[in-house]
Amino acid sequence: MFSDKDIAHFSKLETPFYYYDLNLLEQTLNACKDAARAHQFHVHYAMKANFNEMVLSKIKAIGFGADCVSGNEVKKAIDIGFVKDKVVFAGVGKSDREIIDALERDIFCFNVESLQELEVINALAEARQKIVKVAIRINPNVDAHTHANITTGLDENKFGINSWDMPACAAILNLSPNLEFIGIHFHIGSQITNLEVYKNLCNRVNEFSAWFEDHGFKVRILNVGGGLGIDYHNPHQQIPDFATYFKVFSDFLEVKPYQEVHFELGRALVGQSASLISRVLYVKNGKKKNFIVLDAGMTELMRPALYQAYHLIENLSGNERSMPHPQGTVNYDVVGPICESTDCFGKEIPLPESFRNDLIAIRSAGAYGEVMASHYNLREGVKSYSKEV
Ligand SMILES: *Cc1c(COP(=O)(O)O)cnc(C)c1O
Repeated sequence: MFSDKDIAHFSKLETPFYYYDLNLLEQTLNACKDAARAHQFHVHYAMKANFNEMVLSKIKAIGFGADCVSGNEVKKAIDIGFVKDKVVFAGVGKSDREIIDALERDIFCFNVESLQELEVINALAEARQKIVKVAIRINPNVDAHTHANITTGLDENKFGINSWDMPACAAILNLSPNLEFIGIHFHIGSQITNLEVYKNLCNRVNEFSAWFEDHGFKVRILNVGGGLGIDYHNPHQQIPDFATYFKVFSDFLEVKPYQEVHFELGRALVGQSASLISRVLYVKNGKKKNFIVLDAGMTELMRPALYQAYHLIENLSGNERSMPHPQGTVNYDVVGPICESTDCFGKEIPLPESFRNDLIAIRSAGAYGEVMASHYNLREGVKSYSKEV
């Protein structure tokens, strides 16, 4: 909810912009930290969800590690002050340059996603006389029951090493003196709201862990990835239920005394902490459709265009203008200015009757929002502000 003060503040700013609630972010981080501590679980923040520096410094301060998926994320994590012993590097296509840079920074671990990558890392490490810690990212073929575009743990997905390649994987590890195997890694998808999915994941993790131990490898790290979803329909109910989430793993994972359980949460930590604030440029009332054209588009928030994602949309000006609204609500297609038909934030959205210059908030935009902004159509690039803490 925005206060009258927030709205008065917005009305002085040039739109569109991301507006971060760093208090809420901090409460969310603390809730996660406490819930994880109850089980001695370790949390790494999946930096790709949001690498805004205001956000990163809060997360670093709370003591989480960083889960990176590019060389630049590794660099940024270390530059901003994440401890390198808590920086991990995943990704299906790490370039030689990225591997070398991460090697030289002595990060905690590479999450390796193919047999060939194991060989490349071993060779690059050997040339630099380094021993590199690796975890094997396994594709467990577990259905995350989420949108197809953000499912990552099925046989048809590009991520991880498939189960049938495990013997070859073990053989390569045995022949690679510069690799130190430390554990297994999984990440089956994003915006997962059905926790049953994680039970299935736990069962697979137990099987793979046993397989590696039976083949003479000590599995010290069980990294179960991230993916916990947020409630896009209720941005007011802001803090995800971390306790219930972690309990699933506590109940279903078989953890040996020498094993650590690692999580890589992104969306659940940052998703509710930002809104995209925009203005109505034009209202087009048609026979079949009413359109609100915003000054924000898919160049500022791509999720709806990319995977038909839902975000709650609010008219912040409508509330104060007239109560109750003489016209009631009107159904609008809320669209952006970009020359693409997918540049639409929502269809048939009931809103108070809206007018040019009204302020519109697109909620729950803290994850995969600002970081996916682009310059398509030679757009400016989006600004961000935060609520005073
Ligand atoms: C994206 C990603 C995550 C985080 O996913 P969320 O859905 O944001 O929690 C975790 N691990 C890996 C390897 C990822 O690529």
